[in-house]
Amino acid sequence: MPPAQTHVDTLITNAYIVLEASGAGADAQEQALAAGREIDGGWIALDAGRVMSAGPSTQPAPAARRVIDAGGRLVTPGLVNTHHHMYQNLTRAFAPAINGTLFQWLTTLYPRWAALDEESTYLSTYVACAELLISGCTTSSDHMYVHPKPNLIDAQIKATTEIGFRFMANRGSMTRSVEDGGLPPASVVQDEDTILSDSERLISTFHDPAPGAMTRVALAPCSMFSVSESIMRATAELAEKHDVRLHTHLAEDKDEDTYALEVYGRRPVEYFEDVGWATPRSWVAHYVYGNAEENQRLAAAGVSATQCPSSNMILAGDTADAQALRSMGMPVGIGCDGSASSDSANLWMETRGAMLLARYRDGPSAMSAREALSMATNGSAANLGWVQEIGHLHPGACADLVIWESSPLSQAGALTDPVEGWLRSGPASGWYVLVAGNPLVESGELKLRELDDVLPRHAAAAAAMQGLN
Ligand SMILES: [Zn+2]
Repeated sequence: MPPAQTHVDTLITNAYIVLEASGAGADAQEQALAAGREIDGGWIALDAGRVMSAGPSTQPAPAARRVIDAGGRLVTPGLVNTHHHMYQNLTRAFAPAINGTLFQWLTTLYPRWAALDEESTYLSTYVACAELLISGCTTSSDHMYVHPKPNLIDAQIKATTEIGFRFMANRGSMTRSVEDGGLPPASVVQDEDTILSDSERLISTFHDPAPGAMTRVALAPCSMFSVSESIMRATAELAEKHDVRLHTHLAEDKDEDTYALEVYGRRPVEYFEDVGWATPRSWVAHYVYGNAEENQRLAAAGVSATQCPSSNMILAGDTADAQALRSMGMPVGIGCDGSASSDSANLWMETRGAMLLARYRDGPSAMSAREALSMATNGSAANLGWVQEIGHLHPGACADLVIWESSPLSQAGALTDPVEGWLRSGPASGWYVLVAGNPLVESGELKLRELDDVLPRHAAAAAAMQGLN
C-alpha cells in the first residue's frame, strides 16, 4: 500500500518568486537567482500559516488542498507598513488644511479629531486595512495618538482581528496642550497616569509575543512638541519592563529644531538620547533632519527609521537620505503616514516613492527596485522587531505574500527583469494577497465581509467629523 499523501494548505505555482529582496546594479537579478533569493518560474508551498518550502519547476512540489496558478506573475513577501495614523482617513484631503505646513496642518485638524470615538476609529481602521491590503501590504503598525475617548485601540484591534490583518498597535499619547507650551488643544491630550495605565492594560490584553502573532502592541508618545519629557522617560521604562517596541516621530520638520532648542535647549536627537530612547527597541518616523554625527550615533545605538515618501513630498520638507542611513547599518523601513498628510495609503506607491526620491537625490544608480523592495519588506520588519518571521519568504516565515497583478497594458514590454518592471511600470496592486496563508485579496478583489457595510458608515462619520452635515 502506498504511503498516504500529505497535503499542504496552499501551493502557488508558475511564479517568479522573490524570497528575499536584495541587490543593486546591472547584475542584481543574476546574483539574486544564483544566490537562491529569487526563483524564476517556481512554486511556493504554504501550510498552517507558514512558508513550508519553495523550489524551481524542475523540483517536485508537494500536493496541496488549494493550488493557485500565478500565471507567471511576480510573488514577493507582503509589504510592511511601519508608520500610519489610520484614523486620519476620516479627514482625508480636508480642504482647510491642504496647503499648510506640518504645524499649520496639525493645528487645523486637532479640533476635528477631538470627535473620534470607538465607531469612527473602528471604521477608519477597517478602511485603512482594506486600502493597504489591495496595495500589497500584509502587516501594518498604526500610531494612534489622539484619545478623546477611551478604548479606541480596542476598536482598532476589533477591526484588524475581524479582517485577519497582521497588526502592531502603537499606543500613542499626547500630554502637552497649548496651555503647557505644546501644539495640540486640551481636548485631545491626556494625563500621564491615564496613558501609562492604559498602556499596561493594552499590553496585557492584546500584546502577543509568541511566534506567528497577529497582534502586537508598541508604545508611542507622539512627538516632542506634544508630550512631556517625563512621559518619554516613563514610556521607555514601561517598554523595557514589558519588552515591547517604542515609536515616535523624530526630526520630521525644520520647525522641530527651533522648538527643541527653545523649549529644551537641545537639538531633537540630543533630547531623544537624553530621555533614554536611543536603543534597538526604538524606531522613529521620518527622521529627516538628523545631522551626520547624530545619524552615526543613532545607527550605532540600533535605532531604526521609517521613511514616508509621499508625506515628505506633500508637506514639501526634505526627505530622509535612506541610502546613507542604510550604509551606516540603520534599518530603514517604509510607511505611508496618515491619510490626512499623504492622502493615500498605498505601500506599492510608497515603495516606488522611496526609489524615486533616492534617485532624484543622488542619481540613477542610487537605488534599485530590489533595494526599495528590501526597505518595504525586511527594512520595515526590522522597524517592528519582527525580522525572523515577516519581510521574507524563506521556510518558516509567516505566509504573508503578494501575487502581483501584471497589467497587460502597463507591463507590456517589461520583459527583462520582473522586479524592476514591477516597480517602474505600474501602478501595481495585489492579484492575490495572503496573510497567514489566508487570501484576503483573490483575483484582484478584496474578500472582506464587512467592507460594503463599512464604507457608507465611514462616509457618514467622515462627514460628521468634517462638519459637513
Ligand atoms: Zn506621522
